Amino acid sequence: MAINLDDPKKFRPLAGQAHQVAMNMLRPISRKYDRAEHEYPKELDMLAAMIDGLSESGAGEGAGAAGVRRDESDQDTGVKNGANLASVMSIQEMCWGDVGLLLSMPRQGLGNSAIASVADDEQLKRFEGVWAGMAITEPGTGSDSANIKTTATLDGDEYVLNGEKIYVTSGDRCDAVVVWATLDRSLGRAAIKSFVVPKGTPGMRVDRLEHKLGIKASDTATIIFEDCRVPKENLLGSPEVDVKQGFAGAMATFDNTRPLVAAMAVGCAKAALDLTRELLEQAGVVVDYDRPAVTQSAAAAKFLQMEADWEAAHLLMLQAAWMADNRKPNSLEASMAKAKAGRVGSDITLSCVELAGSVGYSETELLEKWARDSKILDIFEGTQQIQQLIVARRVLGLSSTALK
Ligand SMILES: Cc1cc2nc3c(=O)[nH]c(=O)nc-3n(C[C@H](O)[C@H](O)[C@H](O)COP(=O)(O)OP(=O)(O)OC[C@H]3O[C@@H](n4cnc5c(N)ncnc54)[C@H](O)[C@@H]3O)c2cc1C
Repeated sequence: MAINLDDPKKFRPLAGQAHQVAMNMLRPISRKYDRAEHEYPKELDMLAAMIDGLSESGAGEGAGAAGVRRDESDQDTGVKNGANLASVMSIQEMCWGDVGLLLSMPRQGLGNSAIASVADDEQLKRFEGVWAGMAITEPGTGSDSANIKTTATLDGDEYVLNGEKIYVTSGDRCDAVVVWATLDRSLGRAAIKSFVVPKGTPGMRVDRLEHKLGIKASDTATIIFEDCRVPKENLLGSPEVDVKQGFAGAMATFDNTRPLVAAMAVGCAKAALDLTRELLEQAGVVVDYDRPAVTQSAAAAKFLQMEADWEAAHLLMLQAAWMADNRKPNSLEASMAKAKAGRVGSDITLSCVELAGSVGYSETELLEKWARDSKILDIFEGTQQIQQLIVARRVLGLSSTALK
């Protein structure tokens, strides 16, 4: 079977629109909100309203992070390019504009992906239009998310949540947070469930906002839960603790969100490559695609190597999203895409700073900002090392207990 390595034609208009938005609406305010950390980018309200309009008209399929549901009732067995591919392609373009601003888009939070992934139909309807952050990380628990200590105790018709969540992206600005908590610590990872907690629920409070290296347009919050009560219907998915299934339910969210984070890295790296190409051309460096890299200048050879790395990340991203669209298990591919794109994103953006020299390091261009912004994409939703661990486990057929 021939492999078509082009972007799917069906979504090129969507990607083109996203590119225009990134160029005309995100780039112009990129530096402003890099300097004004914690200030809400009010310009995004208009943009979010436009995306809502597109989604309602059906033209905005996958315009943001929320378009990642796997519809099990869809009996169409034909190969398809669906919402996951549309999402990665549009997110890539938006992050060509600005990663921090994309992460700040109302109603497009990572919590929305979690809802899209695991909510039942009733919950999906009830939480429609809600902007949801995602709260997994705790002071003692980062990569080891099975170790979560936040508790959820059933009391009558409500769950009572207690614990502390840190580094919640959009945690201050969002309407609700999807909180991972354990129903019973003695039952291990199978007892971890996610709960939608609307902002303003008594017992929930934002404690502080973080100052960060990059993505300064995006707010990152610590949230405390003290006897915080939510209706029991806010538990996403099944309340049963299935020890055999273990962590699979909660982890399924990552199969959908990791390709999206890969797309962010691919988009940010493309921004750096495009600008560096222009700067190299201005400096008289010619990148010749018909000659071996080793026969060209060091700068041109480096550029060719970065483009090859970028293409590999881009293809892995498309593959992981395409598999999700076609309801194929994609945990391995989602982690491969995230590992490759996360690393390539950081390497390329920093190497572009290096190639552009003082112009790369100064604030006259956005290269230094992209080098700072891209680093987080190799950290959140599972670090580089954790993605490699997951890939190794899958390839070698080893359990998480056998390979730590
Ligand atoms: C800006 C920002 C936004 C974030 N947004 C969110 C969010 O919205 N929601 C959320 O829940 N969390 C969020 N996070 C948290 C993020 O997901 C965690 O920081 C990440 O999972 C890593 O956890 P940690 O920081 O505790 O590092 P640790 O887990 O302590 O890891 C430290 C280092 O050790 C390595 N390491 C850990 N375990 C292993 C292992 N078994 N083998 C090899 N190496 C290992 C890691 O790769 C890393 O290099 C955010 C973080 C930041 C900085």
